[in-house]
Amino acid sequence: MVDRATRLKVVLSKLKQEGCRITPQRLAVVKILANSQEHLSAEKIYDQVKLDFPYTSLATIYKTVTLLKKMGEVMELGFVDDSNRYDGARPYPHPHLICLNCKKIIDPDIPALSELPRELAQKTGYRIMDHRLDFFGICPGCQTKKQSHTRS
Ligand SMILES: [Zn+2]
Ligand SMILES: [Zn+2]
Repeated sequence: MVDRATRLKVVLSKLKQEGCRITPQRLAVVKILANSQEHLSAEKIYDQVKLDFPYTSLATIYKTVTLLKKMGEVMELGFVDDSNRYDGARPYPHPHLICLNCKKIIDPDIPALSELPRELAQKTGYRIMDHRLDFFGICPGCQTKKQSHTRS
């Protein structure tokens, strides 16, 4: 598991190294990203930051997220027909499990999947720089919701 307190420290010290001013809003965004397991969209991050900083703009959120992305401290998951989602807890390529119904995204902890890039590199001679591995399905929560719906 990722140590979330450490993640926060790492990102903040990197920001300082880059000479970035850590405004309270920026700190809030970094905290949300480092603590979140949900792979939030910029809009969802905005909703949370707004609770404490009502005058924050969505542009501020995007700017901070873009900055963190450039620093390699947040991973962006782009979707054609939906908002991009962000993982600040694990800012490196890793497999994702995506619910088609509620759009929940989780990180499956399956060692065999994490081994794939290394195996692929060995077999093909490619130096793997990046990868994207998404699984789409219906999460357990949505499955029970659907079932109880048909029963009633
Ligand atoms: Zn779901
Ligand atoms: Zn993730």
